[in-house]
Amino acid sequence: MTPLSGRLSPSYRSGVVGIIGRPNVGKSTLLNYFLGEKLAIVSPRPQTTRTRLLGVLTRADAQVLFLDTPGFHRPEHALGRSMLKAAHAVVEEADVLVAVIDARAGITPDDERVFGRLRQAKRPALVAINKIDLVKKPRLLPILEACAKTRLFAEAIPVSARTGDQMPLLLERLVSLLPEGPRWYEPGQRTDQTTRQLIGELVREQALLATHQEVPHAVAVLIDALEHGEQLVTIQATILVERPGQKAILIGRGGAMLKQIGQEARRQIERLVGRKVYLGLWVKVAPQWRQDERMLRQLGYVS
Ligand code: GDP
Ligand code: MG
Repeated sequence: MTPLSGRLSPSYRSGVVGIIGRPNVGKSTLLNYFLGEKLAIVSPRPQTTRTRLLGVLTRADAQVLFLDTPGFHRPEHALGRSMLKAAHAVVEEADVLVAVIDARAGITPDDERVFGRLRQAKRPALVAINKIDLVKKPRLLPILEACAKTRLFAEAIPVSARTGDQMPLLLERLVSLLPEGPRWYEPGQRTDQTTRQLIGELVREQALLATHQEVPHAVAVLIDALEHGEQLVTIQATILVERPGQKAILIGRGGAMLKQIGQEARRQIERLVGRKVYLGLWVKVAPQWRQDERMLRQLGYVS
């Protein structure tokens, strides 16, 4: 990357903040909160985030390049392996790391494995104890102590990425750990995701929210066509699943489920593109796509 020209104060700070943690602790919610918009999709299903995702926050005194990651998990297929690889790569790439844990659970064995990875990385790090809106204050004390005991973190900060509680403090602390540096991105640039990718993710999010158990893991979305008209953005997309039973679930009785997914996704996409959207949705069975390197490339999950 080459820095942008232009005069910035000599104390300008910039760098990469890697957001790491086990699945479902709220990493993507944290990124969206800092960016003030939905860059990363969020769901109660584990492993919602499948790739590394950049969110750029530009301020007068600093530019923070947040990298959201798929959670550290035990991979079971080619997609899982590439997700884990992405998480490891972010640890290497980051100037500062923020480990996210869930205040309801404290430090679990899975969190400890993440901490082990962080220990190897030898980067300045903070731990965000997230979801404090769901626990009583006294429950936080032993977690804070346990975090201090690891000696891994400059600070442990209880936050709620959902309500925003303590999030400004977390941001200030992260910025203070960044090195001095230039602006790498134009202030208007928020992410490295294309509109096409963001649209695919918004469709996938609704499919995740509408289904349970193994179905969410089997879902991927291909954007077949995307046309920007003056009044209307026209999109054709295919939802891939691995088995005919999953296809039946997604379509639903008389197509009701697919209709619901399409309506909500369309609303979200209209917010993203700022225009009316026509969204045509299909569901297709692609057996074993998670093991298929060519398909993973086409979906943008591996490069
Ligand atoms: P990730 O897998 O770590 O990226 O987690 P997500 O950001 O996808 O969040 C997982 C689930 O936790 C979603 O249902 C979020 O809405 C929820 N969540 C995230 N942060 C908070 C929080 O601060 N409070 C509450 N109550 N829920 C949260
Ligand atoms: Mg996520």
